[in-house]
Amino acid sequence: MRIKNQRCKRVPVNKGTTILYGKPFAYVVRSVVRDERCDHCLRSGKLLKCSSCQYVYYCDRNCQKESWPIHKTECTRLKKVSPKVLPDAARLMARIILKLNQGGAEEVGYYTEKNFRRFKDLMSHYSDIKVDVKRMEHFTMLYGVLSQFLDETFMPNIAELMGIYGRICTNSFNILDINMNTIGVGIYLGASVIDHSCKPNAVVVFEGTTIIVRTLTDLSSLDWSQIRISYVDLLNSNKDRREELHSSYYFWCDCERCKKEEPMAEVAACPNLSCNSLCSIEADECEKCNTEISVEFKETFREVVDFTAHHLEKMKTMAYLDVSKICLKKQKGIMHKFNIQHVRTLEMAHIAAMNLKCWEDAEFYGKELVPGYLLYYGEIHPLTGLLYLTIGKIQLHLEKPKEALQALTKANTVLTITHGDKHSIMEEELRPLLYQADMESNSA
Ligand SMILES: [Zn+2]
Ligand SMILES: [Zn+2]
Ligand SMILES: [Zn+2]
Ligand SMILES: [Zn+2]
Repeated sequence: MRIKNQRCKRVPVNKGTTILYGKPFAYVVRSVVRDERCDHCLRSGKLLKCSSCQYVYYCDRNCQKESWPIHKTECTRLKKVSPKVLPDAARLMARIILKLNQGGAEEVGYYTEKNFRRFKDLMSHYSDIKVDVKRMEHFTMLYGVLSQFLDETFMPNIAELMGIYGRICTNSFNILDINMNTIGVGIYLGASVIDHSCKPNAVVVFEGTTIIVRTLTDLSSLDWSQIRISYVDLLNSNKDRREELHSSYYFWCDCERCKKEEPMAEVAACPNLSCNSLCSIEADECEKCNTEISVEFKETFREVVDFTAHHLEKMKTMAYLDVSKICLKKQKGIMHKFNIQHVRTLEMAHIAAMNLKCWEDAEFYGKELVPGYLLYYGEIHPLTGLLYLTIGKIQLHLEKPKEALQALTKANTVLTITHGDKHSIMEEELRPLLYQADMESNSA
């Protein structure tokens, strides 16, 4: 995705500035939410089924009509597939093939007034994918699905198809709803120019299917060769992030954060409970208070690590409050609060408590989660802002308006930068809650 350094006007850009927005070149709704989201605009609410394929849903006739140019070729074919579900990647590939057939190769996505990209400008990583066993297996599966789904007239040759597949693998964006859940996947030509950093200076958010790129830090000028977003979840160790970036995007990250040693990710607590120092499990004593890190302590630590890893893996599809609590109990006094496994467990407990509407627990674990989020995501990050918003919302439920007002004010500071004043998360979620918290804390 690299671009050449280009001359630019030296106009400073403040944090919280929208530097790019655009519509997708092609996108699909995630199949698991296809009966909850409009296939065209991705909104939820009361939806109507396409009477012909019975596979996709729309808000209304308008959305159906606007989607028709691309859906009309899909419609009869999806009907044939039903009740089986087409894999998301296959449907996205089919849509790209159809779009390229309809003159889509000429479509451009601008990232400055003058600079743009076409679909063919996206990197395909052809040679990397050819030797990537996992991706080749996936490609072979998709090839089989697509040759049944599309007629021969549409089907490109295998090299072209692999070019499309490679561009999807390394350039697609997960489309997120306002709660940061993935509801779709899409190709955005302009935004695909942006490189990665684990310490990004910009962030991607969505409004429906529109991508919005916003700055997270003050910049001396808008130099596109210096803009960075993160391709991966930042709540991961240097090692895990670098491995994920290499296996998914074929490069070894050498950003500022990756170059720095990161002692926190797998850290133990100090056996001396009144000391809050980070202890390496390889060391024999705490560097700060010199308390011995005994062989038994090391053993317990490793047991807790294995126990937690096992349960976090099992909770990938569904978070359980009781399981999270057992893990947290075992971690107490053993794992440092900045240990990533501990932060992840708190996240599970928070999510599970919310699902069960156990508001006291949800508030408690939400607040416990804040230091970990601040460390790994940073103060200005959509997930940090969303966590404050959620905590505030829970505190309103619990009739703690003053505390809610504090949390929501923090959410406001963060989300104004990451999403902007006019984003629907502000208008539909945050501002009504802020108003309520303000009213209730004044009357309390
Ligand atoms: Zn719609
Ligand atoms: Zn249809
Ligand atoms: Zn990095
Ligand atoms: Zn210590």
